[in-house]
Amino acid sequence: MDARRLEYLTGLGVSAWELRKPPGHPVGAPTQHGELEGDLEPLRQRVAECTRCPLHASRTQTVFGVGSATAQLLIIGEAPGAEEDRQGEPFVGRAGQLLNAMLAAIGLTRDEVYIANILKCRPPGNRDPKPEEAEACSGFLTAQIRAIRPRLILAVGRIAAQWLLRSDAPLGRLRGRLHHYGADQTPLLVTYHPAYLLRSPAQKRRAWEDLCQVRQLLDDNSS
Ligand code: SF4
Repeated sequence: MDARRLEYLTGLGVSAWELRKPPGHPVGAPTQHGELEGDLEPLRQRVAECTRCPLHASRTQTVFGVGSATAQLLIIGEAPGAEEDRQGEPFVGRAGQLLNAMLAAIGLTRDEVYIANILKCRPPGNRDPKPEEAEACSGFLTAQIRAIRPRLILAVGRIAAQWLLRSDAPLGRLRGRLHHYGADQTPLLVTYHPAYLLRSPAQKRRAWEDLCQVRQLLDDNSS
């Protein structure tokens, strides 16, 4: 067990836990749709030039997404924050480090999954995305999902979960059960945003339950 995973599990109060190895090919390994990197790059360029909503005027740069173009797990948050806007990458800084540790706890690295946000540009002052901004940007996320074809989507945080599921239910009612998203009915789970977990560490145990469900579904889908 590597140090980061052990650190996260210790933080949750879980003393020992071993992964069940998926019987199929490893997460993140190329599949029959393994040459999709080329499909994401033109899309990245279109996002970089996008002026569809007023957020283009205040961004430092767009934050398209990061990870494996053949990922089995697609993680979707709400929008870039200040650090993401600076670096051009989603989930960096302390929240990003916690997300990395959460992934490590279920045997995944950041490079093996794909991480994106609903909005590709930072809302000023880190305010919540406006519905019209999310609608304007939604075509890019849909195209990312179509290109990556993940086996599982993990919506992190209330805003992302409510928008993806078109629900106004609280996060506590959305997590803990399997949803399906989009025309392909991609399985979707919900968990807490790592920034929220930093403020509310008591919820880490529930997040751990969500992560175990993620691992279980990936393993089940590999057989
Ligand atoms: S948030 Fe999305 S729709 Fe708005 S300018 Fe940025 S890329 Fe375009």
